[in-house]
Amino acid sequence: DDAIVFEHVRKEYADGTVAVGDLSLAVRRHEILALVGPSGCGKSTTLRMTNRLVEPTSGRIVVEGTDVTREDRVRLRRSMGYVIQSVGLFPHRTVAQNVATVPGLVGWDRRRARARASELLELVGLDPDRYGKRYPHELSGGEQQRVGVARALATDPPVLLMDEPFGAVDPAGRRRLQEEFHRIQRELGTTVMLVTHDIDEAVRLGDRVAVFSRGGVVEQLDDPVAVLSR
Ligand code: ADP
Ligand code: ADP
Repeated sequence: DDAIVFEHVRKEYADGTVAVGDLSLAVRRHEILALVGPSGCGKSTTLRMTNRLVEPTSGRIVVEGTDVTREDRVRLRRSMGYVIQSVGLFPHRTVAQNVATVPGLVGWDRRRARARASELLELVGLDPDRYGKRYPHELSGGEQQRVGVARALATDPPVLLMDEPFGAVDPAGRRRLQEEFHRIQRELGTTVMLVTHDIDEAVRLGDRVAVFSRGGVVEQLDDPVAVLSR
């Protein structure tokens, strides 16, 4: 039961760089698939083709049964959560407003969007009464990252794309965030594609791990925890 399928996908940038060669890959529904590998091997390009921040040169990508090239780009992006390393919170909107942004854009009324924002802040471990009215710069790095996760999950998207989501958080905080995120992902059943260069994070969070080398997957680990004890 696959949520995301890549079939013979290739990405060649305008300058001739072949970032992804001939990639076939599937993400099963409700799992975390971790894409791991050194910098520059095509992980982010792969992730960003899923929501068409990057257009594939050829091949086919199907998300929840829809060929992404046939879907309107704006709708496609709003249908998937997206979390990156530098969270990119809106600096002039409060924490609660940040989380309620996408619900607002997709037409939820204010009351429902606000209630959802409180719920999500609670879920990521931030007391909505204490944090909701603050601005992003009044939060620590780890707290901002939690808001980023809450914002990405606000409309309960079936698919969440994450690019080095905990990369800017200090090691101790990172470990805690990883564990909490894992719990949230299990609770919501969100399908996750996670890009990381941190093999420890990949193995810790990935139900399966796709190991990238220049331009594509060189090995797939279906039981990553077994690798730890190898
Ligand atoms: P990773 O996420 O594994 O670090 P990327 O997907 O970001 O790898 O990059 C893969 C390759 O594509 C790299 O050689 C990178 O320099 C190149 N690349 C990424 N974005 C662009 C772009 N917009 N134009 C040209 N080359 C790019
Ligand atoms: P960290 O050690 O995780 O980076 P900080 O030292 O940045 O955390 O912040 C510690 C606590 O103080 C956090 O709970 C944060 O929300 C709060 N805090 C930081 N800056 C401000 C601020 N300008 N106004 C209110 N609270 C703040």
